[in-house]
Amino acid sequence: MNILLVFAHPEPRSLNGALRDIAIRTLEAEGHAVRQSDLYAEGWTSEVDRADFPALAPDGRLIPVAASKQAFEAGTLTDDVKAEIDKLLWADVLILQFPLWWFAMPAILKGWVDRVFAYGFAYGVGEHSDRRWGDRYGEGTLAGKRAMLIVTAGGWEEHYAPRGINGPIDDLLFPIQHGILYYPGYDVLPPFVAYRVDRLDEAGFERVAEGLRERMRTLATTPPIPYRPQNGGDYLIPSMELRPGLGAPGASGFALHRADADAAG
Ligand code: FAD
Repeated sequence: MNILLVFAHPEPRSLNGALRDIAIRTLEAEGHAVRQSDLYAEGWTSEVDRADFPALAPDGRLIPVAASKQAFEAGTLTDDVKAEIDKLLWADVLILQFPLWWFAMPAILKGWVDRVFAYGFAYGVGEHSDRRWGDRYGEGTLAGKRAMLIVTAGGWEEHYAPRGINGPIDDLLFPIQHGILYYPGYDVLPPFVAYRVDRLDEAGFERVAEGLRERMRTLATTPPIPYRPQNGGDYLIPSMELRPGLGAPGASGFALHRADADAAG
C-alpha cells in the first residue's frame, strides 16, 4: 500500500521522532511505500489567509469557503497545498502523528487540515438537496482509503478512561477521527495512543515501540471504527439526526454515531 505519514513535532530527537522512525521502518519492511509530510521541518504555513488564494482580487472580500471552492475548481490553490492534495490522492492510508497538546492536535497540524482539506476536495462534495446532504461521513473523495492517528499523551490511561477526569479518549479524538477523517470518506482505524510518556524509561519505550510496530504490521487488516455512514439510512434528512430507535434510549453524544452503539444499548 501507499502510506502518507503527516508528522507534527518540532524536534526530530523527540519521543515522537523515534516513534515516527519506527513506524516508517516497520511499514517499509512490510513492503509498503511510505511518504512523509514533516510539517515543522518543511516550515508548513498553518494559517489560512489571503496568501492561500492568489487569484482573489486584491480588494476582493475574502470568504474562505467560497475562495477555497473557486481555487480548487480553477486549480489555483498554492503549490504547497496542491502537493499535499496529490499525496493524499496517492496514499491508500493516511497516518497523522502528534503529541496531544491541550487535548487537541498541535496548531501546525490543524493548519495543515484547514488549508489542505479544500472545498470540492474534502467537503462540499456530491449532491446537496432535500434528499441528499452531500457525499460525506463515509463517502467522499477519500472513500475506500484508511486513516489512523498516532498520539502521545502525558496523562495516564486511566485519566482518559470512560470515567476519567480528562474525558474519554474516544470523545477527545472524535472531532479529528469523525469530523476530519471520516467526513471526507476515510475508514478510520482505532488510534494508537501512548499514555504517560513524559518520564518514559527504556522498558516503557520498548513497550510502546512494540505496540506501534504491531499496529503498523496490521494496518491493512485492523477493522475500522464502525461509524455510521451518513447516507446508509441511519439519519433523517435534512435534520441529520439519528433516527428514533437507534442508539441506547435517552443517549446522546459522540458514541451515538457508532453503529455498535445499538448493540451496546
Ligand atoms: P519527549 O519529551 O521527546 O520524550 C518523552 C519521554 O520519552 C522522555 O522521558 C524521554 O526520555 C523518552 N524518550 C524519548 N525518545 C526516546 C527514545 N528514542 N528512546 C527511549 N526513550 C525516549 N498531555 C496530555 O495528556 N494532555 C494534554 O492536553 C497535554 N497538553 C500539552 C500541551 C503542551 C503545550 C505541551 C508541551 C504538552 C502537553 N501534554 C499534554 C504533554 C504532551 O502530550 C507530552 O509532552 C508529549 O506527548 C510527549 O511527546 P514528545 O515526543 O514531546 O516526548
